[in-house]
Order: sequence, then structure tokens, then C-alpha cells
Amino acid sequence: MSPIQQVVGAITQYQTGAAALARIQEALQLPAEPAAVPEPLPAAGVEPAALAFDDVRFRYADDLPYVHHGVTFAVPAQGMTAFVGPSGAGKTTVFSLIERFYDPEAGTISLDGRDLADWELSRLRSAIGYVEQDAPVLSGSLRDNLLLGNPDADDDAVTRVLKTTRLDGLVARLPSGLDTLVGHRGTKLSGGERQRVAIARALLRRPRLLLLDEATSQLDAVNEAALRDTVADVARTTTVLVVAHRLSTVTMADRIVVMDAGRVRAVGTHRELVAQDPLYAELAATQFLATAG
Ligand code: ADP
Ligand code: MG
Repeated sequence: MSPIQQVVGAITQYQTGAAALARIQEALQLPAEPAAVPEPLPAAGVEPAALAFDDVRFRYADDLPYVHHGVTFAVPAQGMTAFVGPSGAGKTTVFSLIERFYDPEAGTISLDGRDLADWELSRLRSAIGYVEQDAPVLSGSLRDNLLLGNPDADDDAVTRVLKTTRLDGLVARLPSGLDTLVGHRGTKLSGGERQRVAIARALLRRPRLLLLDEATSQLDAVNEAALRDTVADVARTTTVLVVAHRLSTVTMADRIVVMDAGRVRAVGTHRELVAQDPLYAELAATQFLATAG
């Protein structure tokens, strides 16, 4: 080996050792198993992240119209932010830009005060858990589906995310528990359960930032309550951004960003926006899927 290769090898070994040590330290710091309250995720030591868009302009191709015409907003590290607005407003595109599936044509996006362009892509992506709209459940067992998020997750971590996402009851009822085949020829999951499996999968990676593009399909009352409680729990320790289609999600947000035609037209709480923004008031009255409450 050349001297350079030796140094690189030593650094890699050191990093592997450091990561293992961090995991052990983390395990030692975990408090005793609580009786009923699910363990918030991510575990201690992982800080939530602040995010900002500054005058972002974006279009999917040079011959297509702009989707973002100067989008500006800032999200503090703590709490939950909901994005609402008519279909085509550019909400999902906000998430695609955060993930760096695309880069803005002008303006900047920063995470923890650092331009996304300066983040190593793999580090950026591992900081983010992205639950896409209508996230699929693939073939295989429920366990396989969860471990896709993090093949190294241990049983304790899986147990914790199942509690957080209120899937523990479902798993207890399934004939083979976590080994039950779901997806194609297996047990059919409802839309709400599928979305929570996708959230659980994302949480196993212990993201600092959770992006949730809510499904537009109707949920029954049980699944709606489970989704709301899940998001509320996760938001206690993780920065949560939700493209929201339900009033029950929106009303618990710490702040709501109202988007329309590629711009941010208002930011506020539900109460403030109902009073101040006619578009928001109309969306709240007519387009959100759930009834008030
Ligand atoms: P929202 O989530 O608010 O409904 P989107 O961000 O999905 O809005 O889309 C905003 C606009 O960008 C829409 O006009 C949509 O057709 C367009 N768009 C979204 N994704 C793509 C894509 N991959 N290629 C081209 N145009 C797209
Ligand atoms: Mg969308």
C-alpha cells in the first residue's frame, strides 16, 4: 500500500470505530423503557436541523415555466411546519429541492446555516427522512419493509418506531408479527397503515429533518388519529415539515406556510391565517379533507 492508501485506510478504520463507539454510548444513554409513552425519536444526541429558503427560483427544465418564483421562508430547528396551498403551488417541489433531487436556478437553500450545495450529498440525505406522497409498501415481510430505512437497526429500535407510529397494535394482531408478508401477495395494509410504515422506515434512519408529503386519500378516524399522534411525537425531537392535506394535521402545526403559484403568500398559525388570509380561510373551509377539530 502507498502511504496515502495507508492513511486513508487508517481514517476509514478510525471512522468505523468512532461510529461503533457512538452507537454504544448512545445505547448506554437510553433511559429505561417507559411504560406507555413511546420513546421520542431520534435518540439523544441527534439535534434537529434549521432550514431556510432564500428567494429560490426553480423550473424543471429550461423550456418549462418557473415552478418557484422566489420562494422565501425559514423554519427553526424545533417543531412542525405545515405547507398548504392549491394543487400545483410548488409544495412537493420544496421537498425535492431540499433532498437535492434538483438544484435551484437562483437563490439559496440552507440547512443549519450552510448552503445545501456545500453539504456532502450522502451526509445531507442521511440527515433527512423523506416520506413521499403515497409511499409504497414493497414486497416481503413487514420487517423487510422497515429495515429498508436502516438495515443495521436493532430490535429495540424497531420496537420503538413501531410504538411511535402506533403500528405496535397492528403487529401484535398480524399472524406472524413482523415476519408477516405484506405487499403483493401478503396481508393488505390500509392506506393509513402504509403511510405509517413509510414513516417508521424513515424514522429508523433517525433523521434530523422529517419531510412528510401527506397522502391525499381519505383516512378512517383511527388512522387519522394515529397519524396525528405520530407526527406530534416526532415533532418533539425532530424538525418536521409536512405537506398537509388534513385540517387535523394543519391545526397542530407550529407554523403554516401558505403557497400559491410558486410563491409563499403567508406564514402564520391556523388561527392567524384564518383571520388574515382569504385563500387559507377558503382552503380550510373547503379543501382540507378532514372536518374541523
Ligand atoms: P404541489 O405539490 O403544490 O401540488 P408540485 O411541486 O408537485 O406542486 O408541482 C408544481 C408544478 O411543477 C406543477 O405545475 C407540476 O406540474 C410541475 N412539476 C412537478 N414535478 C415535475 C416534474 N418532475 N417535471 C416537470 N414538471 C413538474
Ligand atoms: Mg404535491
